Amino acid sequence: KLTIHDNIINELDAEQREAVINSSGKVIVIAGPGSGKTKVITYKIAHLLLNGIKPSEILLVTFTRAAAKEMIERAQKVAGKNLDGMMAGTFHHVCNALLRKYGWVMGIKPNFTILDEEDATDLMKLARSRFVTSKQMGKALPTHNELHSLYSYMVNTMQTPYEVLLKKARRWINVVDIIEKIFQEYILEKEKQNVLDYDDLLLKMLRLLEEHPDIRERISSQFRWVLVDEFQDTNILQLRIVELLSQVHGNLFVVADDAQSIYSFRGARFENVSELMKDARIFKIQTNYRSADKIVDLVNAMIPRSAVPKRLRAVRSSVQKPIVVNTYDHFDEAHFVTQRIIEHVENGASYSDIAVIYRAHSHSLELQIELAKKNIPFKILSGLRFTETAHAKDVIAFLKILENPYETISWMRILKLLDNVGNVRAEKIISEITSTEDPIGTFLNVDVKSENIKSLKNVLTESLGKSPKEQIRTFYENFYKYVLEVHYQDFRDREEDIERLIEMASFYETTEALLSELIVSDARGITIENDEDSGKVTLTTVHQAKGLEWKVVFVIGVNPGDFPHFLALKDNSLDEEERLFYVAITRAKDVLYITHSVLSRGNYISYDKIERDFVKDIPPHLAEFWRVR
Ligand code: ATP
Ligand code: MG
Repeated sequence: KLTIHDNIINELDAEQREAVINSSGKVIVIAGPGSGKTKVITYKIAHLLLNGIKPSEILLVTFTRAAAKEMIERAQKVAGKNLDGMMAGTFHHVCNALLRKYGWVMGIKPNFTILDEEDATDLMKLARSRFVTSKQMGKALPTHNELHSLYSYMVNTMQTPYEVLLKKARRWINVVDIIEKIFQEYILEKEKQNVLDYDDLLLKMLRLLEEHPDIRERISSQFRWVLVDEFQDTNILQLRIVELLSQVHGNLFVVADDAQSIYSFRGARFENVSELMKDARIFKIQTNYRSADKIVDLVNAMIPRSAVPKRLRAVRSSVQKPIVVNTYDHFDEAHFVTQRIIEHVENGASYSDIAVIYRAHSHSLELQIELAKKNIPFKILSGLRFTETAHAKDVIAFLKILENPYETISWMRILKLLDNVGNVRAEKIISEITSTEDPIGTFLNVDVKSENIKSLKNVLTESLGKSPKEQIRTFYENFYKYVLEVHYQDFRDREEDIERLIEMASFYETTEALLSELIVSDARGITIENDEDSGKVTLTTVHQAKGLEWKVVFVIGVNPGDFPHFLALKDNSLDEEERLFYVAITRAKDVLYITHSVLSRGNYISYDKIERDFVKDIPPHLAEFWRVR
């Protein structure tokens, strides 16, 4: 029988306490935004620790790496115990770690490298090119980008190409045979190169668990508890994976809000929630601790349709109703938001208390300019991630070659940094070296006169067997610095990034560990740690704002066509847009602004008219309406 500790009792309400203390077996905590779902998981971990469960017996799955880190820190404080040895992170992290250890039983070499989206798309391009025999055929087929998203959707929803095309893209049904062949080629190429893409991490993990009962037994005996946050955004693969991982002990503890499911375009299915509810114990929490009551009133009026209806009770009172602001165009909107941020800060808020949330990254551009003009520091959670910038990718490609010399995409990237090497030459070198037992050794023996190939050979030689930090330093100082200076005007900023990368690398003993951290991550997880980030306004898409909260929140660009997004019409996914809007407004603690303008982007870019207007859905008595023109 588990005992209860004071520090846990005192900080939870009765409903939350039940969910933390009296829950074993298959459990789902289902509750609205800001009700403490994440807190319940965190305290559950502390509770388990205090009752003698070892960190290594717990598996925590979160939506971002950063979320896992925060929860770990909090749980350690509450329990007064160390959590070293607990496996925690996103599904992709967890699967990556387990596949490195057990993947060999299904022929996966432990030094496999991972293709990010861009690399995977490049590989799809290669696969596609092998089947395009005429211009006409090129036109009849989806582009490599389209192929990659179809492929990814197919894997994540466990469907056949035909099924996916039937539902998503009928116009290509007549070329389904070729599409299948391209996918086959893509899969073969991955095997040949000893690489996995993101989707493989889930797919192979599931196969491993399904097809190897001994391994399944072994892994799932280790995890006495499997805990999952943001369960409403899991896909079918992930549902099966956690069910199998918790098979031996049967303790699967998940928290969810089906009204906040916003990733169906990537194959997430909120049906997972109702499916699990069939044979799980259900806990409900109904108090909202995050938002002031006037905000909760509006939130309650905007709850999307969902399987489990939830009304929230507020505990914090306020005087200020949510403010709906109408401006003339999005330049005025940016101006208004900036002005208000200045006022809030003058009245005592710090920049980090404030966030601006939008539907699409491009909707933030005017605001970025305006904020920069006024010298307001901001950070962006959406947009290009650090590891997607060209210079970071170059460094990563170098490390990947050292780790897995069969990965041609990385060789390509590195060889093309050399001035006198083009596509044809690079391809020739690559096919020559990757058909041998020792690609790096073969490369070192390639007979060349050109100086820069020689210098690449030198840095490769020097890096073999070194720590990841030394590897990056060698590559950078003896080779890459010169490339940067020639190719980029802003090379100083980029150099600074690489210095920080080197600093970060010093925390990792192996190249593989560093690469896993860098690649199997998410936008929030891997903004290379920067202390200055703490004093900044946050700019973010709704998708990236999930689970987070700020004192002051601006939801901008709430114009039909922008938010709800015009593409939703095509996909018939207005429901998802509703849920997105719901997620956006529920991030606010004290003050919520919703802004829209007379001229929307639709007046400049032509797209299909969308009728749905969220501002019109707002009951007039629940908000203040301002006009700023
Ligand atoms: P979301 O659906 O947005 O992920 P959530 O249900 O996970 O929200 P949390 O982020 O865990 O909610 O909690 C929201 C806020 O309420 C946090 O600031 C948390 O510290 C606070 N909170 C939760 N429970 C309590 C409580 N019992 N007493 C005081 N504050 C609480
Ligand atoms: Mg949460």
